[in-house]
Amino acid sequence: MTINLLNEDLQIRENRLGSITGYHGSAKDLSNCSRKSVLNDRERSFTQCSSCSSGTAICQLAMIQDAVVINHAPLGCSGDFPEFNFINRTGQIKRKMKLKNVRLISTNLREKDMIYGGNEKLEKTIKEAYERYNPKAIFVTTSCGSGIIGDDVNGAVEKAESELGIPIVPIFCEGFRSKIWATGFDAAYHGILKKIVKPPKNKSNNIINIINFWGDDYFSNLFEKLGLIPNYIVPFTTITQLEKLSEAAATIQVCSTLGTYFSTALEQEFGVPEVKSPPPYGILGTDIWLRELGNIVGKEKEVEELIISEKQRIEEELQDLRNKLKGKKAFVAAGAVHGHSIISVLKELGIQVAGACTWHHDPILDNRDETSDSLKHVVDTYGDIQLTVCNKQSFEMVNLLNRVEPDIFIVRHSGMSIWGAKLGIPTMLIGDEQFGLGYQGIINYGQKIYDMITNSSYVKNLSKYTKLPYTKWWLEQDPFYFLGGNAGE
Ligand code: SF4
Repeated sequence: MTINLLNEDLQIRENRLGSITGYHGSAKDLSNCSRKSVLNDRERSFTQCSSCSSGTAICQLAMIQDAVVINHAPLGCSGDFPEFNFINRTGQIKRKMKLKNVRLISTNLREKDMIYGGNEKLEKTIKEAYERYNPKAIFVTTSCGSGIIGDDVNGAVEKAESELGIPIVPIFCEGFRSKIWATGFDAAYHGILKKIVKPPKNKSNNIINIINFWGDDYFSNLFEKLGLIPNYIVPFTTITQLEKLSEAAATIQVCSTLGTYFSTALEQEFGVPEVKSPPPYGILGTDIWLRELGNIVGKEKEVEELIISEKQRIEEELQDLRNKLKGKKAFVAAGAVHGHSIISVLKELGIQVAGACTWHHDPILDNRDETSDSLKHVVDTYGDIQLTVCNKQSFEMVNLLNRVEPDIFIVRHSGMSIWGAKLGIPTMLIGDEQFGLGYQGIINYGQKIYDMITNSSYVKNLSKYTKLPYTKWWLEQDPFYFLGGNAGE
């Protein structure tokens, strides 16, 4: 059992799941090594950039509408606050919520604090946050700075909690703790599970927890036909909503890179069944996912009818898109499971996946369930492809794209999408992870890709006037020049 909510902190992904950030080779080999637990991380002798767990923890906490997040850190660690505020405000408009800013505060640790300690500052900030916003809960996220000097965050939190009478939740997400920034999701969920979620009072038979980022509402339409109600978590929720997560009929996740820890813990600790299946992307993945959901909520017959009607509904348009996209090749770069999901969608459209890169790889998930293994599902269903695991190293990505010359580059993170555009490759930035979900998601992708491939003059012009920061020497080298070691057996 890798999840223990009695622990102050959780095990990082490297130790809990054996996760890695370095690999290049066949997806099939990676899948086999993962299942046999013989996977090694191939270290890079040079790295250029990365993300950190603090940002991924805050991205789940910042949009809880009646909470405050205090980042106990130097101000530089809060560089992403404006982005979270932008996502919060656009999401509020979409959801017809009252428009207000995120409640994110930095303790602004300075050099003096690094010498004499930052606890006093943290205690003052918690009180200030309470007086200013009257929140239902306060989350305190840690950073490399507060972690290195060994501030007693637990002590400060416990003292303030007894004075203020609201949950104050420490989230241990220092960037240096893990190379896998998805560990930050787990840290945020660990805190929510430990101090916010309550034991169930009234069990629901139709509310389904959906662990997601902040995509559009694609589930209501699908669920309406099954008499189910989506409960999107964690962004855009309230503390009261989170307290009742234990009452749901089931938990699903749009991406198990995001939700593996949360959904497994909700089942293990609160008895909420997790839908264990490949992600609901591509036809077979969606079939398996819907059937498993139907089994859990007792809607097997309704699910079978829905599968038939949905497939009939998209059949003609899917064939038309397959004809239009015949012979096209794509390169995919995204978080691990979402990357596998995009590959499934592209394969359904008949597009050749000329290469794919995921930001890390979890050989197993917290539920240890083989049907939830999205990479195995891709390999078994659609065959082998060339796959790289690379934690957003731009130098590798530019070199790879320059060689592969795909017709379309599909990428999840904005910082990486710019390289495709600079190389003159039509580049599709996936901001909404729900866009490709289910049967309709295949059509959504097909239409968008066709549109982008047939309107490429902007990126072509951009590339004409762009000077890349990488030299001719580098572009002629093996993209994996700096990747050492062996992957596995
Ligand atoms: S927590 Fe560490 S890795 Fe993350 S932004 Fe701050 S200093 Fe950088």
